[in-house]
Amino acid sequence: MVDFGLGVFGLTAPELEVDKRLITVLGSTGSIGVNTLDVIARHPDLFSVYALTANHNIQLLVEQCVKFKPRFAVVADPAKVAELRELLAQSGCSIDVLAGKDALSEVAAAESVHMVMAAIVGAAGLLPTLAAVNSGKRVLLANKEALVMAGSLFIDAVRSSGAELLPIDSEHNAIFQCLPSQNIESLDHGGIRKILLTASGGPFLNTPAPELKEVTPEQACNHPNWDMGRKISVDSATMMNKGLELIEACWLFNTSPQRVQVVIHPESVVHSMVEYVDGSVLAQMGNPDMRTPIAHGLAWPARIESGVKSLDFMELAGLHFEAPDLDRFPCLRLAAEAFELGGTAAAILNAANEVAVQAFLDGKIRFTSIAGIVEDALNKVPHKVVTSLEQVLEADEQARKVATMLIARSNS
Ligand code: NAD
Ligand code: MG
Repeated sequence: MVDFGLGVFGLTAPELEVDKRLITVLGSTGSIGVNTLDVIARHPDLFSVYALTANHNIQLLVEQCVKFKPRFAVVADPAKVAELRELLAQSGCSIDVLAGKDALSEVAAAESVHMVMAAIVGAAGLLPTLAAVNSGKRVLLANKEALVMAGSLFIDAVRSSGAELLPIDSEHNAIFQCLPSQNIESLDHGGIRKILLTASGGPFLNTPAPELKEVTPEQACNHPNWDMGRKISVDSATMMNKGLELIEACWLFNTSPQRVQVVIHPESVVHSMVEYVDGSVLAQMGNPDMRTPIAHGLAWPARIESGVKSLDFMELAGLHFEAPDLDRFPCLRLAAEAFELGGTAAAILNAANEVAVQAFLDGKIRFTSIAGIVEDALNKVPHKVVTSLEQVLEADEQARKVATMLIARSNS
């Protein structure tokens, strides 16, 4: 159960402390990482960088190191460490280099670090994000897959460590902004009726079902409103992203899928809403630019400049809302079912989805096969009650094997 007060979304006076906040950016070379550094660069008096991490994009990591002068540069793939050292030396940048998965957790948990931006994509982000949580940091959570996989363990860790968990996913950040500012235990307190989780509907919102079979990775990654990494772009196109976000909302706000209504809103101007028992609906709005939730998380409860331009209401052609189509987008239904099943089901859903999305991006399966592979994996891998992280990691591994086998079989 999330405590909306001290420890998770703790309440303090809305002013930034004068000491500079030291930040580790996990996944600094990705879309969220780059946007985070853009906001940080606007406030050299408030933030400085402790560590930057990447998987493969050494060129960009080096450019970021030259600009932000972190204490550590970390490359997750040890095969890339020589290249990183060489390019840093060529750039005259003498910072410490670390490599491998454990190094990600080390720089997330380091004592002097105040905040960690968790922006690695997928299950690879789970252990370093948990390391940040367990060491009581302010954790800016973009990596929704980590919370989806390990829900109860993750939230228990937040509570017991005193970490401050702030949602960066634009919808959850919007919900957080629309919730009462006083401490509440769950949605049953504070006069809240429900959460309205908005969804753009992705690039195929109006594509007829038969045509979905033929869509290409390039079409799937061409999101109408947001510029994001390829995995989350495909998730948006299948609406698995909204399914993962439904689970994310249930954990963050201590509620059930019945209290979270998914609403299609193609303009992505309303980032989500909270409805109260008196009929009030509070919405958080703005241009679709991740620097808003990132700046909100970095400075909360203060507000800082993010570089996002004003929302011009005179230029809006209109705001539209409709119900999601669960027949064309079955991933949303599968995610809700996985959350209701509980235990390791959401970890299985997430892992099978990651494998299926990669297979689609690699041209091995059709777009419309993704949901079937996830559903088959959910049926084939036994679900267990979660009492340890090992069980979550084991479910993740088993689901990856089953999904890989299903993909191989569909191609033979
Ligand atoms: P991205 O693909 O652009 O970047 C991913 C980052 O993770 C890169 O820095 C990459 O080097 C790193 N990475 C990838 N695999 C890794 C591995 N195995 N080990 C260590 N590092 C690895 O992704 P993104 O769009 O920035 O998304 C990052 C996370 O934020 C995802 O969980 C996504 O769902 C979430 N998110 C993104 C957006 C967005 O607008 N992009 C919005 C909301 C939430
Ligand atoms: Mg989102």
